[in-house]
Amino acid sequence: MLSPKFKNQLTETLDSIQDQGLYKRERLIAGAQSVEISVVSGEATTEAAPSEVLNFCANNYLGLADHADLIAAAKESLDQYGFGMASVRFICGTQTLHRELEQTIASWLGYDDSILYAACFDANGGLFEPLLTAEDAIVSDSLNHASIIDGIRLCKAKRFRFANSDMDDLRTQLQAARDAEARNVLIATDGVFSMDGYIANLPAICDLADEFEAMVMVDDCHSTGFLGPGGRGTAAFHGCEGRIDILTGTLGKALGGAMGGFTCASQAVIDLLRQRSRPYLFSNSLAPSLCGAAIKAIELTQSSVGDQLRKQLFENAQLFRGEMDAAGFTLPPGEHPIIPVMVGDAEVVQKMSSDLLERGIYVVGFFFPVVPKGTARIRTQMSAGHTPEQVKQAVAEFTAVAKKHGVV
Ligand SMILES: *Cc1c(COP(=O)(O)O)cnc(C)c1O
Repeated sequence: MLSPKFKNQLTETLDSIQDQGLYKRERLIAGAQSVEISVVSGEATTEAAPSEVLNFCANNYLGLADHADLIAAAKESLDQYGFGMASVRFICGTQTLHRELEQTIASWLGYDDSILYAACFDANGGLFEPLLTAEDAIVSDSLNHASIIDGIRLCKAKRFRFANSDMDDLRTQLQAARDAEARNVLIATDGVFSMDGYIANLPAICDLADEFEAMVMVDDCHSTGFLGPGGRGTAAFHGCEGRIDILTGTLGKALGGAMGGFTCASQAVIDLLRQRSRPYLFSNSLAPSLCGAAIKAIELTQSSVGDQLRKQLFENAQLFRGEMDAAGFTLPPGEHPIIPVMVGDAEVVQKMSSDLLERGIYVVGFFFPVVPKGTARIRTQMSAGHTPEQVKQAVAEFTAVAKKHGVV
């Protein structure tokens, strides 16, 4: 039984989240994740009739979340390898399928080896502590993903933080790490910053790393599978493949969107992570069906199907950016399929996103403290699964709703 004192404390915290307008409510989707989904209206209840909406807020960049080939591959792996492993990898949780997936990822992205985790959150959470000690330093972008921040917290290395994508500040922090006589220095950055769709300036980061003899770690969750040639990610996009020492990524976004994460690096790094990385050692092995489907997803992205999907994805992104721009919206420049529609006011953002849902466009607003005050936005995400007509429909609904709220 919860003590009344503790219960009151929790209630107060919940009330304050409510009062600040930060309470997150989950909408129920009745069916598979896709471009067209049925959303159950109202609060979390299954009673109301679902309405069909166009989904513009999933990380389903290639539209693979309900792809028939992935579902078939998952079923095949279920039949051949069973449902679950009931073991961590080093006891009796490693199937041929796990190694096949690890080697597929590594050779696809150009590394010696890779190591699987239940999620990229775990890959990042378990990355730093085994590799670096108090004698070392990590220089981290201020907008890095929560999982990188948590992973760094668990590590004894000295911490330095540089302002988001600010190369002058990165230089300053690298100098500070050098002045602190750090033995090894690792720069850590997201490949793509998901609130802005901003692609990290990896060539400049790698140049500074060379100058300061630092290593580079990139989290490519919002690019693996679709950005750059062959969908090989941010480094491929920037033409600096081979310069990133450690890469982490997810199977939970473009590559089918189920779950699973990985780290790619030189053999010695991967070998040590297998010995010491806590989320790997003390957590269950990835389900066989997820491994089988992930291998299929990578195979697809490497085929002409993948080329076609990437082409469609970036055409959709360009179409949306162009039409929204012409309609008078403010969009940060870029080419990533994450396209934030800048509004400014948190309340207007909330009203707009709920109006848009009523009109059949599912998008989500982000505001302080997720993004800086006064920069509230509706973040849209394009998918290869959208048709150009659906993209245009979204623009039309955005325009109608924005006019109502005096945004354009
Ligand atoms: C989504 C995301 C993660 C977490 O990935 P999961 O596999 O869902 O745990 C980590 N880092 C970044 C940058 C992400 O966008």
